Amino acid sequence: MTKDQIFEFFRRLAEDNPAPQTELEYGNAYQLLVAVALSAQATDVGVNKATRALFARVQTPQEMLDLGEAGLKEHIKTIGLFNSKAKNVIALSRILVDEHGGAVPDTREALVRLPGVGRKTANVVLNCWFGQETFAVDTHIFRLGNRTGMAKGKTPDQVEAKLERRVPQPFRRDSHHWMILHGRYVCKARAPECWRCKVADLCSFRKKVLEPPKGRAALEVSAD
Ligand code: SF4
Repeated sequence: MTKDQIFEFFRRLAEDNPAPQTELEYGNAYQLLVAVALSAQATDVGVNKATRALFARVQTPQEMLDLGEAGLKEHIKTIGLFNSKAKNVIALSRILVDEHGGAVPDTREALVRLPGVGRKTANVVLNCWFGQETFAVDTHIFRLGNRTGMAKGKTPDQVEAKLERRVPQPFRRDSHHWMILHGRYVCKARAPECWRCKVADLCSFRKKVLEPPKGRAALEVSAD
């Protein structure tokens, strides 16, 4: 994709959704950090279901320590890998209390030192809470970067580095939200819905699906 095409790609996605947000629910930086840590290999919907009651009770790392690992597990037992996630959340809460005065640090270096917090989680927190222009490459962004030709790479780090270089202003801060939403709802993993994709003419994917599957078309017609 050329520079102009990338600009146009985000201009169109921004048109429909000028202020995109993460679909995770949270009330402060600490809750966002916990929600993102819990969301690995889980859906945002599933995480929100579990965290509603948890976050009504726990707003700070100290309150999480007071709840304890067993109490936390009770809240998040519907989320995949909840045993190891509970361990990590308790351990990271301890570090936040002991080393950061209970606050969430605003640097990637400090964030990735927390148990269970990788580069992607750190980037989400830096972007969504601290307003930094980070590119949190999840499965959707990795796929979209490669399919469209905007940021090809064999690893998430390679895709992130290319996005860093190529995404222009004024889209840098929100670009990862637009890409996640586009990947989740249109450019789906198994069957991209290119026939209704508003950036199809800019995308260099060779195997575009330009017509809906027959059953799908019939369903849509009968729904009308
Ligand atoms: S044209 Fe298809 S492959 Fe390209 S971004 Fe749109 S949905 Fe994805």
